[in-house]
Amino acid sequence: MRVDVVSIFPDYLSVLDLSLVGKARQRGLLDLRVHDLRDWTTDRHRTVDDTPFGGGAGMVMRPDVWGVALDDVLEPGAQLVVPTPSGEVFTQRHAEEMATAEQLVFACGRYEGIDARVAEHYRDAGVTVRELSIGDYVLNGGEVASLVMIEAVARLVPGMVGNPESLVEESHGAAGLLEYPVYTKPPSWADLEIPEVLLSGHHARIERWRRDRALERTAERRPDMIAALDVATLDKQDLALLAELGWVPGEDGAGLVRA
Ligand code: SAM
Repeated sequence: MRVDVVSIFPDYLSVLDLSLVGKARQRGLLDLRVHDLRDWTTDRHRTVDDTPFGGGAGMVMRPDVWGVALDDVLEPGAQLVVPTPSGEVFTQRHAEEMATAEQLVFACGRYEGIDARVAEHYRDAGVTVRELSIGDYVLNGGEVASLVMIEAVARLVPGMVGNPESLVEESHGAAGLLEYPVYTKPPSWADLEIPEVLLSGHHARIERWRRDRALERTAERRPDMIAALDVATLDKQDLALLAELGWVPGEDGAGLVRA
């Protein structure tokens, strides 16, 4: 998979040389290229921004500079990702879709963001343009947001994560639940013991215990995810536990509602 990041602070992206993403780059699984937007400027001051039409505080990034940069970087079939706090909130579903792209190009905004015509222009030209937010807060620039998305996408690329099994039961996976609590050695620490069932070697009991803890944890921390569960994917024991936790199938039978 090819990933391009265009930024006025390319050094910000140097962490992409570390850890799993760095290793994937070395192994050729990820062709990751970081570009300095200012390389596409033509004036002495290498200007990338200007004052906003309509007045107001701050500066806006110029569409003409972004246009030449993106024309150069985008390959046919690429997806253009524009991180912005006014975008749809990035989720694991986006990561899964983005992991199938041949090329992802991240356009990192700064100041008050990128002139809105850039996304419009590439959308009109038939490019898949994703304006995505990593959460309801405002960062100084799109670099950190791009790093978040690149890491989430890259770990889904086949071969990236050593044991692909570890992706299956994770939070926000196909089950629509948060992951159960996990433990390792030592079995006793700070007067806290690990749940005995995990030492039993009894796979079915361990699986049931994990499923129950995932349901409990999700109900407590993310009731919105419980409300979004499809009843058809739940077994009798799931439904019994959810009823204890105050969730029952709604009138239409498809979703869960508070009892
Ligand atoms: N004026 C913009 C607004 O209110 O929507 C905020 C601009 S912000 C200071 C500068 C850049 O940071 C944005 O263009 C975007 O690239 C990035 N950014 C800030 N918060 C973000 C978030 N929550 N998710 C994704 N990108 C974000």
